[in-house]
Amino acid sequence: MYSAAGLAISCPEHARLESEFIEARDRMRGLIRLRKLEPAEERQLAVRVAMAIARLKEHVAGHGCERRG
Ligand SMILES: [Zn+2]
Repeated sequence: MYSAAGLAISCPEHARLESEFIEARDRMRGLIRLRKLEPAEERQLAVRVAMAIARLKEHVAGHGCERRG
């Protein structure tokens, strides 16, 4: 759903939150690939990704800066 990363985003805060989410997601994927994570560790990473998504959605809802067209 956020596959359009890299396209120009007019809102800098939106861009920042989106890159935060991508960074958290990539870190989780990278660590999972690298080694077996403790369940607590994996949960913590997943929570971080979920929080990043929530912040992004919240910003978009409040700011109305979702890309149009
Ligand atoms: Zn915005």
